[in-house]
Amino acid sequence: MNIVFFGPPGSGKGTQAKLIAKEFNISHLSTGDILREKLNEGDNLSWQLKDIMSAGNLVSDEFLNKIIADKLISKRCINGFILDGYPRTKTQSDFFLSFIKSNQTYLNFVFDFKIDFKIAEERIVSRSKQEQRSDDNLGVIKVRLDKYMKETYPVSQFFSTNFDKNYFIIDADQEVSQIQKELIKIIKKGLN
Ligand code: AMP
Repeated sequence: MNIVFFGPPGSGKGTQAKLIAKEFNISHLSTGDILREKLNEGDNLSWQLKDIMSAGNLVSDEFLNKIIADKLISKRCINGFILDGYPRTKTQSDFFLSFIKSNQTYLNFVFDFKIDFKIAEERIVSRSKQEQRSDDNLGVIKVRLDKYMKETYPVSQFFSTNFDKNYFIIDADQEVSQIQKELIKIIKKGLN
């Protein structure tokens, strides 16, 4: 089973992706987590990534496409995947869609997390206190939300028209457990 999650920073999609991946035994591919792991490597690339990410900007499409292509063909995705944070731009979306087509991979569900940006901001501010992420302060949050609207929202719209039967809007203002229940219900119904 293969799933794509869309949603702005602070919409809780990372939390849900983890829960759903565990529930259905599929791989959770968070490009944010993958990039944050690379930051610890201490090489030249990690410094470049740190500059880009701590300013709230997007890392290059070429780099992301390569990371994701490698993961998707790896053993860890044998049962399927949840993409969390990718595709984020039109270039990534074009690459991803042609990649899955040539690998005869089917997308079972596309979930689009909708949230009031004010609530998203508040959630990120409270997360920053727990996780100490350098990109979780208010100035950077605004850049990230802005990037989402400009770059990723149009991609989610494209998926909503092209995967209309498999595309579901999720009200991300709800409690974590409520959203989880809703996702599981949709998935179970869709798989029957
Ligand atoms: P996230 O945890 O998904 O909010 O990602 C944290 C940061 O990693 C983003 O603000 C970007 O700098 C970078 N990033 C994550 N995914 C992507 C992507 N698909 N394309 C470009 N940059 C990304």
